[in-house]
Amino acid sequence: MPPQRGKTPKKNKNGSGSQTEPVEVYCRIRPLDNPDDPVCLKAVNTNTCILTPQENAIARNGQVKELQYQFQYVFDEYTSQKAVYDYVAMPLMEDLIKGKNGLLFTYGITSSGKTYTMTGTPDDQGLMPRCLDVLFNSISGLQAKKYVFKPDRMNGFEIQTDADAMMERQRREILPGLTTPKTPGRGRNHGEFGEHGRMSDPTRVEDIDEGNIYAVFVSYIEIYNNYVYDLLEELPHDPITGYKPPQSKILRTDSNDNMYVMNCVEVEIKSPQEAFEVLYKGQKRRKVAHTALNAESSRSHSIFNIRLVQAPLDANTDMIAQVQDQEKNICVSQLSLVDLAGSERTNRTKNTGERMKEAGNINQSLMVLRNCLELLRENQKTGLGKLVPYRDSKLTHLFKNYFDGDGKVRMVVCVNPKAIEYDETIHVMKFAEMTQEVLVTKSQQVKFEILEAPMIKKPPVIEDYIPMMTYSLGPTFPSLEVLHCRDEYTLDQLSDFLDERNRLKENLMIDFNRKQDQFRAQLVKIEKEYNEMKSRSHESQSVLEKRESYIQKLESRLRSLEKRQDETSRQFKECERERRELESKLQDKNMKIRQEKTEKDRLRSDFRNRLEHNNQQWEKNLQKERNKIENELEGQINEKQHKLNMLRHIVNTETDSDTPTARFRTPAPKARTYTTPGKIMSARSETDMSSVGKNPVPTPRSRTQTATVTSARSMHGLNKVGTPKNTPQYNPRHRRSRSSNAEIWLDHRPPGSVELGTVLQPKLKKKKSVSKLEVKDTKEATKYILTHQDIDSAGELETKLIKGNMLPTAGGGTAVVFNDVETLKQISPGSRKRRSSCPQPTDYDGDWTDVEDRCGIAIEGHSRKRSRGTEKVSRV
Ligand code: ADP
Ligand code: MG
Repeated sequence: MPPQRGKTPKKNKNGSGSQTEPVEVYCRIRPLDNPDDPVCLKAVNTNTCILTPQENAIARNGQVKELQYQFQYVFDEYTSQKAVYDYVAMPLMEDLIKGKNGLLFTYGITSSGKTYTMTGTPDDQGLMPRCLDVLFNSISGLQAKKYVFKPDRMNGFEIQTDADAMMERQRREILPGLTTPKTPGRGRNHGEFGEHGRMSDPTRVEDIDEGNIYAVFVSYIEIYNNYVYDLLEELPHDPITGYKPPQSKILRTDSNDNMYVMNCVEVEIKSPQEAFEVLYKGQKRRKVAHTALNAESSRSHSIFNIRLVQAPLDANTDMIAQVQDQEKNICVSQLSLVDLAGSERTNRTKNTGERMKEAGNINQSLMVLRNCLELLRENQKTGLGKLVPYRDSKLTHLFKNYFDGDGKVRMVVCVNPKAIEYDETIHVMKFAEMTQEVLVTKSQQVKFEILEAPMIKKPPVIEDYIPMMTYSLGPTFPSLEVLHCRDEYTLDQLSDFLDERNRLKENLMIDFNRKQDQFRAQLVKIEKEYNEMKSRSHESQSVLEKRESYIQKLESRLRSLEKRQDETSRQFKECERERRELESKLQDKNMKIRQEKTEKDRLRSDFRNRLEHNNQQWEKNLQKERNKIENELEGQINEKQHKLNMLRHIVNTETDSDTPTARFRTPAPKARTYTTPGKIMSARSETDMSSVGKNPVPTPRSRTQTATVTSARSMHGLNKVGTPKNTPQYNPRHRRSRSSNAEIWLDHRPPGSVELGTVLQPKLKKKKSVSKLEVKDTKEATKYILTHQDIDSAGELETKLIKGNMLPTAGGGTAVVFNDVETLKQISPGSRKRRSSCPQPTDYDGDWTDVEDRCGIAIEGHSRKRSRGTEKVSRV
């Protein structure tokens, strides 16, 4: 018959309606080694302790900043192991028996009393031995026969029949080298928990369900450097060094999502003594393994698991009730007792090389534990389902289920109150404070449901095959007393009786032989069945072995894959680190590029500014230079003008000597020069020619005189080269737009002009009157009118209005082309001098040479002489 199987029942998850409870945190303060040492932690009451900083950490204002911490219970240095057990572990033990899981761990720095609290000493036992004592005290008399419950290597249990269990018992006792440790013989060293001197705990859990049978299994594992080792596994033997380093184990999830260590040895124990033997063996292996691994015990997490398997008994058969779904019939509860590695920070362990790596890993496991608890707390507060990084370390991965609501979690924070441990203690306290804010789901009590009638067939026993034999000896002997020698009657009676008995005996013999044959046949049948079973079991054994070897192969493959995974993750981390480095380099380079760019921009703008500044400087210099040249030219012009005047004076003086009217001569014609920035405007009229008594005023329209407004450079060029090519060019046919139907007159009346008050006045529609000529005035005007007054030969005031068109020149200046002269004369009624008022044609003789021409010769070095009536253009 196949064995019945059962699994750890699936505990309730964080479903709706499930109650939660916080992680219960207890604080235990250990006594000082030297009572005179200063302390930093004191218990104030059963729930509170105060952490006082070291003397040198006192605040600046001189006040001592005390920190207060509240816990479920604070055990001071005088608290006994028993009291700690009663408060902390007893409820977990009660839960275990009720089918609930529990996790109890001790946390603290090295030498803070974690191992003392968890294991203790033989005469003052810690939590673990007391748990075992109490468990066996409670289930005594209710234990199943050994091997009735059998681990199925997948975190579940199978139920075997009593016969199979007995066979297994024999097999295990006969065959050496099986995975379970052998029961040590009497007198062997049982370690520190040997029976001699051990003070067992007499407590027992009341209210035990006596309708169940129980079996206890223990396993003992260690997590070191984030590798899981089985402390109950036979160590591989090395012929040279003794033991080889142990193989690490893999964590797996069973069909109910419970985490377990794959292929971890689980030993069924029937008494606390057996448990201590297992524990002792584990500790011994731990030492050996540590030597082989060159490890240190304070840097490893040790986990002692107690699994209690229970199943209800059938009231009729006094055997385990058999149901179809064995998962509902078997309850497996677990209590994990964890002695964590020292929580001190890495920098405190002055290790180097390998040791440093270990220390880092240990702290990393505790760091992950801390992170997980923090995230759990955050998730519970905020309702956000952030992923808790259980998988980041083997420790948290293994206990994932507890935090996900699979049992009670309790923590004993062990503290060494020594003042020098203040810095570490503050971290421990913070962690402890945070931990008690984490909520875990309350697990429910397991109820068994026997759904069907038992299916198990009672195993055949020998009595079943032996028919009930009732031996009848027949009628009792008749009276054998012979009364006399011929007492035939009695003898006959006796003879009949004996015959009868003989007959009966023969019948019985026949019956016996028949039954004997029957029995033999039955026996042969049983033997046959037995042989068949044996061969079948051999077959299944070989199948099992094959499966085992296959599993081992798979395991080794898994291990190699895990190693490869480790290697890949290491490479990945390395690549990640390199990527980060490259990224930072890239950022540096980008920053440099940006800096260079801004520097370039700055230089460029600087250069532009300088260029602009230079240009301005240059322009200023040029301007200065130009002004200087202009001034020089002006000086030259003035000088030439002066010479011209002198020449005029000479000429006039000569003429005067010939003509008596010369004394009425007006001064030599004036050349007015106006200087504006960048331009010199010189206006010169020919009107003074008419003032020469000898030379009559030319007929209007017969001569056109021009005043030119030009740039200094043009003038300079003209004066220097003396060729018309260098004079400002204008278009004599140019006509300004007349669309506006308005001629703008520039009425130029030099200062000192006399008002005439005549009847006839020139009629100018739009005019601008100026006394001094400016360049801007010449820009707008289209016509030019110059008022020139002089005294004629008769001593009368003669006013001439010289008119001209204003034309723009190629050099940007304005040229005035004189085309009309109006002469105004006022004559007193008594005067008869006609000659002066009316010029005669004879005035224009062929030898006439006007002053202008003569001055032109002096200044320009050339003269143009034209016949009368032709236009004459003169430029200055
Ligand atoms: P840990 O496991 O935290 O490194 P241990 O449990 O090994 O520390 O304790 C260090 C020492 O302190 C041991 O010698 C232990 O006997 C002693 N000790 C710790 N706690 C107590 C206590 N409550 N009472 C008496 N001795 C204690
Ligand atoms: Mg320890």
